[in-house]
Amino acid sequence: MAAMVFEVLTIFPALIEAYTSESIMRRAREKGVVEVFVYDIREFTTDRHRQVDDYPYGGGAGMILKPDPVCRALEHLDRDGEERLKVLLTPAGRVFDQSLAEEYARSRGRILLIAGRYEGVDERIRSFVDEELSIGDYVLTGGELPALVIIDAVTRLLPGAVGDSRSVREESFTTGLLDYPQYTRPPDFRGMKVPEVLLSGNHELIRRWRRKEALRRTLRRRPDLLRKARLDEEDRRLLKEIKEEEQWR
Ligand code: SAM
Repeated sequence: MAAMVFEVLTIFPALIEAYTSESIMRRAREKGVVEVFVYDIREFTTDRHRQVDDYPYGGGAGMILKPDPVCRALEHLDRDGEERLKVLLTPAGRVFDQSLAEEYARSRGRILLIAGRYEGVDERIRSFVDEELSIGDYVLTGGELPALVIIDAVTRLLPGAVGDSRSVREESFTTGLLDYPQYTRPPDFRGMKVPEVLLSGNHELIRRWRRKEALRRTLRRRPDLLRKARLDEEDRRLLKEIKEEEQWR
């Protein structure tokens, strides 16, 4: 199966290399599940000082990432004739979420991520990209963390990237709900006990308990998710039970 490919344009290539050279990302790269190529925007400058930033027209604080080196980098990459989805990372973009991660993982395509810096990128860069993505409503110093967040979230959904694929199938958001509470040893930690049912060995009871607690947690913390989740008959029964229980608390 062909590897999914991520390409990152950045002025700090070492940041991307560092994260993708460890742990699950490293193994996924070694196994050929994913390929990560990092390009230094500075390599595409043409002036003696290799300048990638400049002052904003109209004045104001900070510097702006110049359009020319970024566009040269895009043109250089496009010469290979490969189809790639070009993504600009910006707080003004569509918010990246688990369903988009799943869509990208299913596509197994080639995704190019452009990491901005300084006060942002020259507006004209936008006309060279297919998509603008944000990783949430806060402002980071650069697009490297957003690029890594996207690479990580997509990679772990690719077959073969994570040891036990059940852990990916059952976790938060994948089922439309937050994850259920998890416990490991010891059974009694400073007086806090692991719920009896998890020690019972009864798989059906455990499954039902987990589903119910996932519903309870989502109802309490993220009712917005619950409204969008695909719920079946059993879920509706469990939710009714939860609401009745909560009334008696
Ligand atoms: N002045 C810009 C604004 O208010 O939208 C913020 C620029 S930010 C300091 C520098 C770069 O970090 C951005 O160009 C973008 O690439 C990246 N960045 C920061 N926060 C981000 C977020 N939440 N999602 C995606 N990229 C982000």
